[in-house]
Amino acid sequence: MKITSVDSFFIGIPYEHGAPKPVLPTADGRTTQDAVYVRVETDAGIVGWGEAFGFGACRMSHLAIQRVVAPLAVGRDPTDIPTLMTDLFRRTHGMSRNGPVAYALSGLDIALWDIAGKIAGKPVHALLGDTKKQRIPAYASLIRLDTPEYVRRVSATAISRGFRHIKLHEREVATVAAARETIGPDVALMLDTNCTWDFRRAREMCDLLRPYNLTWLEEPVYPPDDFESLARLRRDSGTRIAAGENLGNLMDARHAFATGALDIAQPDLAKMGGITEIWKLIGEARAAGVEVEPHSPLFGPALIATLHVIAAVPEDILCEFYFADLEANPLGPMASPKDGFFAIPNGPGLGLSVDESLLSKYRID
Ligand SMILES: [Mg+2]
Repeated sequence: MKITSVDSFFIGIPYEHGAPKPVLPTADGRTTQDAVYVRVETDAGIVGWGEAFGFGACRMSHLAIQRVVAPLAVGRDPTDIPTLMTDLFRRTHGMSRNGPVAYALSGLDIALWDIAGKIAGKPVHALLGDTKKQRIPAYASLIRLDTPEYVRRVSATAISRGFRHIKLHEREVATVAAARETIGPDVALMLDTNCTWDFRRAREMCDLLRPYNLTWLEEPVYPPDDFESLARLRRDSGTRIAAGENLGNLMDARHAFATGALDIAQPDLAKMGGITEIWKLIGEARAAGVEVEPHSPLFGPALIATLHVIAAVPEDILCEFYFADLEANPLGPMASPKDGFFAIPNGPGLGLSVDESLLSKYRID
């Protein structure tokens, strides 16, 4: 079997009228929810779908698929995933250890797993393991809201939709206090600061945040790969530290584990090598005694791939759900949890069908 084409679709979906919207646009000024879908076609007529990360990097990931990945992948055998992916990562090693080329290759890997499942007539999670799970709990990952009033309103909405785990993207104690007051003591609350503090400030904030009983504190320091500071913060404060969405590859993860930086690793399969690499990372995290909660604030095939990975592992893992209402989704309702849970996709491959008319409608270029 041969790959005959690798196509990229850069789309931007507007938020539904009246839904919570991000306070800040992305780095390139966009305020829609953007995504990069990858479509891989084979000479056997089988089509696989993937997704490359994401947010402000979409345009670069889109270009990387078109200019770097597609020319290298067309003509190759899609059925031997380790050989193909290892070869492409090696040939691009000067630009694929992290960043948009790694994201583009991740999108290809996900599409290859979709193809593998379709050939086998099995869902991807069955290729990885033997799931005992009936459904997957989701956590509501709130967009950055910035004021206690806004946090109260959106937290209450998440609770009313059945979520029992809520993550904030805030930076002030008052906003965390507002969320805890709204959701009560029994709902899990997490805080993601997106690398906002230096070590000293982060250490102070750990003490100030203690009354709000955070399940984890995510990416408290800049830069994200300052594993030594994270390890020191963990040790000195006793706060449970989560990070890993900015890991570029498995070697980064090994370094983080060896440094003692993490209670919880948060790899993103749309960034660090697709299903192939996240599966290796989960095994190494297990051996290192580090929990895994994948990063997946996405709405496309990478979110569905994350559900397959979570379905296949024995551990209880939450799936991150970016809590924002979009006016449409090319994957339909499977990309949204119901009453706080995602259904496990059981069709062959990723088990998704893409409404390509919506890819056309929302296409940016
Ligand atoms: Mg995060």
